Formats: sequence, C-alpha cells, structure tokens
Amino acid sequence: MPLDPQPADSLHYDYALVGGGLQNALIALAIRHHQPQASILLVEQQATLGGNHTWCFHFSDVAPAVMAWLRPLVAHQWPGYEVRFADFTRRLPLGYGAMTSAQLAEVVTKTVLCGPGAVLLNTEVSQVAAHQVVLADGRTLHARLVVDARGAQPEAYAGRAGWQKFVGLEVQTVVAHGLVEPILMDAQLPQMDGFRFMYVLPLDAHRLLVEDTRFADGADLDVAALRAEVLAYAQHAGWQVAAVLRQEVGVLPMPWKTSENQSNHGVLVAGMQGGWFHPATGYSLAVAARLAQWLGSVPPDQALGEGLRDLEQSHGRQRHFAHAINWALFHLAAPPQRVGMMARFFRRPEAIIARFFALDLQLLDIARIVLGPPPRGMRWWPRSLALEVTP
Ligand SMILES: Cc1cc2nc3c(=O)[nH]c(=O)nc-3n(C[C@H](O)[C@H](O)[C@H](O)COP(=O)(O)OP(=O)(O)OC[C@H]3O[C@@H](n4cnc5c(N)ncnc54)[C@H](O)[C@@H]3O)c2cc1C
Repeated sequence: MPLDPQPADSLHYDYALVGGGLQNALIALAIRHHQPQASILLVEQQATLGGNHTWCFHFSDVAPAVMAWLRPLVAHQWPGYEVRFADFTRRLPLGYGAMTSAQLAEVVTKTVLCGPGAVLLNTEVSQVAAHQVVLADGRTLHARLVVDARGAQPEAYAGRAGWQKFVGLEVQTVVAHGLVEPILMDAQLPQMDGFRFMYVLPLDAHRLLVEDTRFADGADLDVAALRAEVLAYAQHAGWQVAAVLRQEVGVLPMPWKTSENQSNHGVLVAGMQGGWFHPATGYSLAVAARLAQWLGSVPPDQALGEGLRDLEQSHGRQRHFAHAINWALFHLAAPPQRVGMMARFFRRPEAIIARFFALDLQLLDIARIVLGPPPRGMRWWPRSLALEVTP
C-alpha cells in the first residue's frame, strides 16, 4: 500500500500529527471517526508506527463512544483477571483488553489513508510551530492544527518520580498453558527493588506474555536479570517454554509532581510529553483516549480554545490525586512496605479499583486507597521512622 496517496506536492493538511506513537494513533482514529473528510498528516521517525508494545487497558477506562473507534485496535480481551498476594487471591470481573503495536500500525495506517491524508515513516521532524512542521530534510508542511506527541522525556521526571519498570517476554509453550484470564499481579514472590510482581497475559492457548515488573525508586534496569526471572517463573508455573517470540522493555515514570500541560505557542502538546498519562500507573491509554475523543470532535481551528482548557483542568485535578498516591507509595512507604499497600488497594471495592485505573477518582477514593478505613490501613509516622502498613 502506498503510504502517501496524496499528490507529492500536497503540503497543507487540517491536522499534522507529529510522532506516530500511541497518542497520535488514537487522535488519528478519533479524527477520522468524527470528521471523515479531514486531511491528516501523521509523521513518524521510525520505520513503523507504534513501537514495540502491548498496551492493556480496562474497558471501564474508556467511554462507550470511544470504543466506537478504539475497538479495531483490540487484539485480545478477557472478562476479568486475578491478583495474587501473600495472603489472598482475588478475581476481579473487570473487562480487560490488549492492543499490539503490529495491529495498531496496520489499523491506523489504513484508517488515515481511507480519507485524505498521508503517513510519513522514517521521517524525522526537527521543528514544530503553530501551523507548521519542519522535517529534518528541510521540507516544511502546513496544517490548521499541529499536535506534538513525540513521547516521553524520562529525564524530565528525575527526582520527582518513582519508576514502573519491566521486562516482558512473549513465549510459546510446548503444551497448552491452561491459563484463561490474565494475572494482573502475582506478588507471591520474593520482593525486591521495591514492589515486585509478575504480570501474565494469555494471548492464545500456547502463547503468554509474562512480565517481571518492579515499582522501584530508580530507573536502572538489568534486562538480562529480569529476563532470566521471567523464564524461571514460567518454568516454576509449569509452562515449558518452546520459544521466546518477542521481548518488550519499559521504564515508565510514576511522578508525584509534574509540569503542567503545554498547549502553548499554538501547538497542542499531547501524549506523555504533554502530561496526558496516568501518573499512578505509568499507563497512557485511558487519558490519551479521552484527549483523542475530545480533539476528534472539534474542528482544528477550535482545538486550542476553552474546551481544551476545561479538559486540562479536569485532568490536572485527577493528576493531583494520582500524585498523592505516588507520594505515599514512593516517598513515604519504604520499598519493602509497598507490597502491603498494593495488597490493601486490591481489597478495595471493584468500583474504586475501576475508577483508579480510569483516572476518574473521587476525593474519598484517595482516602480509601492511601489511608484505608481505620483501624486498619496505613499509619503515618514522621519520615524518620518506618511507615507501618497493615494489609
Ligand atoms: C513496553 C511498554 C509497555 C507499555 N504498556 C502499556 C499498557 O499496557 N497500557 C498503557 O496505557 N500504557 C502502556 N505503556 C505506556 C505507553 O506506551 C506510553 O505511555 C505511550 O506510548 C505514550 O504515548 P505517546 O504517543 O505520548 O508516546 P510514544 O508512544 O512513545 O510515541 C512517540 C512517538 O514519537 C516518535 N518521535 C519522537 N521524536 C520524533 C521526531 N523528532 N520526529 C518524528 N517522530 C518522532 C517516536 O519514535 C514515537 O513513535 C507501555 C510502555 C512500554 C514501553
């Protein structure tokens, strides 16, 4: 399929989306859904859209109207999942879905090109400004709205974030593994590097994604060591690995303080770069989909107006809640005590857990997540003393 069906001299678009990662992929789908005739330019420096990820989300993270355009990205889905801690196991009947980079690249490319538009791969953008994008090769393209979603700058979070870091292996098992639903957290493991758990997705009868994950103070990651831990876990679970099909690695900031969204200079700064992610999970999908849904439904010339400010304000409030949770998890709780805090969280009512993942929290939720109902829960001591957590 040609990636640019427009005439080669076409330099003017309704939307120029800079960065072909998760955020702009969602924005492109939302625009095409709401404004089928809008012209879209999507520019990515890599050879493919979407990098190398498996993106998971709860179906309750997104409004039904979002599912209308998000659904084609969903590669796997399950009606619920399990969490395992030292003294309890719980199944949560919360619908859970996974998207793959490969499917995202295919769906988004087709969707952009089924209307007026272009997808430029292997194309680095050197500069963005209101209404224009300058490519590294010197070309200048014009748009009514420029959206800059060039991804995370982890160094921006130094000193004000904990880290969710993981190594995941997609493995083929020799015989059917027998797992029918994900294990969102298996923390029945020796704790190390903060809170540590395995995350397991059954992708088909013989295929699993298994990730060793840490909620740690530092961003350093020993990929070989975590890879070995994943393989040892699979073996211990009785899943004989025939082949490792793919590896994915993540180091995601979980900040307790963040800079403001930057919808300035006439450019909409979106995605991780603009702070449009969930600070307390390090995940993006719920928040990125919310921004995409809104952006897709307004004409490009109105995108930087009052509606965006309202959205920024409501996201800003939710971010403060999430920052409070991260502060408790990383700043107040000593690393070995994080597992107790997480176990307490997963004993909460399903509705609170769902609102937490959706970043749609209420003030009372924060108290119930961070403090817990007395007399159990977290007791706050002066920082010099250990924090006591009673699950
Ligand atoms: C392995 C892994 C698994 C994850 N799992 C989940 C999950 O399950 N659920 C979830 O919600 N989140 C998950 N996340 C987090 C999520 O992937 C990120 O938060 C999300 O991708 C951020 O979206 P973004 O569009 O802002 O940035 P990105 O997706 O990083 O996209 C930015 C894009 O911009 C491109 N780019 C950068 N500079 C330029 C330039 N100068 N010119 C052109 N292009 C440029 C990059 O190549 C990249 O493709 C995961 C992250 C990782 C690493």
